[in-house]
Amino acid sequence: MTDPVRMCIACRTRAPQRALLSLRRRRDGAVVPAHGRTRHADGRRAYLCARRSCFEQAVRKGALVRALGRGRALRFDPKDLWNALAEAVRDEARTLARTGAHRRRIDAVHALSAAFDREEGDV
Ligand SMILES: [Zn+2]
Repeated sequence: MTDPVRMCIACRTRAPQRALLSLRRRRDGAVVPAHGRTRHADGRRAYLCARRSCFEQAVRKGALVRALGRGRALRFDPKDLWNALAEAVRDEARTLARTGAHRRRIDAVHALSAAFDREEGDV
């Protein structure tokens, strides 16, 4: 199984896609997590390290809008989006364990989930 390398839109660190948080823009402009059940849905994607500092930087300095907006309005509330990401990653970790997914994918999602546990608190 090969895993493509992606770049964090905030700090520009490159990492395997599975080790990064993934966001997508829905048709209506809403920004949502691209994890779990929506992981394979269509749409433009943006990737982030599982660190609050990268998330905040992406929101504050406009990297998220540049990556996903491309001239279109985005709809998201930073606090809701951060919480939704945490929930989506935890949900994906539970689902992968049940479905016998590839071990590397499971380990990566558990690492993402643990990262959220270390970064409790409001955005
Ligand atoms: Zn980063």
